[in-house]
Amino acid sequence: MISVEQHLDRILGTVRVIRPFEQGVLDAQGCVLAEDVTARGSLPGFTNSAMDGYAVHAQDVVGATEDGPVVLPVVNDIAAGNTNALSLAQGQTMRIMTGAPMPRGADAVVPVEVTDGGVVRVQVRVPSVVGQHVREVGEDVEQGVTILRRGTLLGPGQIALLAAAGVARVKVVPRPRVVVLSTGDELVDVGTTPGFGQIVDSNSLMLTAAVTSVGATPYRVGGVPDDARALLDTLEGQLVRADAIITTGGVSMGAFDTVKEVLSRVGTVQFDKVAMRPGMPQGFGVLGDDQVPVFTLPGNPVSALVSFHVFVAPALRAMAGRPEPAFPPGYVPAVAGEAFSSVPGKMEFLRVVLDDDRARLAGGQGSHMLGALAAADALAVIPPEVTQVEVGDALECLPLLGREGQ
Ligand code: AMP
Ligand code: MG
Repeated sequence: MISVEQHLDRILGTVRVIRPFEQGVLDAQGCVLAEDVTARGSLPGFTNSAMDGYAVHAQDVVGATEDGPVVLPVVNDIAAGNTNALSLAQGQTMRIMTGAPMPRGADAVVPVEVTDGGVVRVQVRVPSVVGQHVREVGEDVEQGVTILRRGTLLGPGQIALLAAAGVARVKVVPRPRVVVLSTGDELVDVGTTPGFGQIVDSNSLMLTAAVTSVGATPYRVGGVPDDARALLDTLEGQLVRADAIITTGGVSMGAFDTVKEVLSRVGTVQFDKVAMRPGMPQGFGVLGDDQVPVFTLPGNPVSALVSFHVFVAPALRAMAGRPEPAFPPGYVPAVAGEAFSSVPGKMEFLRVVLDDDRARLAGGQGSHMLGALAAADALAVIPPEVTQVEVGDALECLPLLGREGQ
């Protein structure tokens, strides 16, 4: 029996950051930058108005008051998108819209709200100072400066900055492509009514959703029978498009545990008993010329999802170049809302409902119980040495993927 930490260490010591790849900025959402990026152009790219109003020489309206407005002739209108280079003579004004280029000579914008809104002549009722309501060229970002550093995770704000600064493509660590397959003669695909003794293959759907939730790209293969040839052929066929493979089922002590039987003979997959509940039988190793990491998770659905959270998710994040503390991965504190016992010598992952920070069991804790799994907000992580938890005891919880809408 090995510890959870030992198994995770072996996984994180084996997986590698995926080779960077150039992508369009939108496709790079959720990816980590693999290069420093510099601004191709300045932001703003030209000096423009920050308000709808009137472009002026500030000194022309220096004496404007409510009772003594300054009247200026309006000699032009400048809309956003105007591409003509205009000049403003002293003693005149032009109507200007937000984002429109400032005419040469003008050095301030009087907001329309402090004027009479005139289109031939305008009354300006407040004074202005140089630079007021003007966005200077380069005030946000100067051309040539580093705008984003290698290692930055790209979200909507970063994508906007890249696009605005003239960067259409960036080198990023691609999303890991993850093949998900389940094994078992009892499986039928979703939408098919199972016959007696059959069940719907929920694992491959669950893990496909989990892969998406951590920002990786899933390829769901679905159910493969408990047949060595079929499994080997499927694995061989899938290796070309996989950065990682997840299998479920067939790794315990049963007579038809094909995954264990097949993968013990090829690659480096090592099968271990990990001191955890649920999820004790685990396998991990690499397959093929490209050393594709393979996670062989147990077949019981709760065991498979717990294993994904504890082992696969941190590995996929590492492969995507995301820095993350190895363990514990993203715990949140909670307090036991009820007493419960825990198995000695194993790290236990209890499905709990969180009411604020009070954790109560989500229902039956059997590793086949999807009802309680779906009701749960988090996994309460009970260390191996703890055998009894009392009301009010501090707990660490691992929020379940998808509870924040990922
Ligand atoms: P195994 O690890 O193959 O011995 O399977 C353990 C339990 O998990 C059995 O009750 C299986 O029927 C169930 N199981 C295995 N694979 C799946 C799957 N893809 N979807 C739902 N349940 C599964
Ligand atoms: Mg099986």
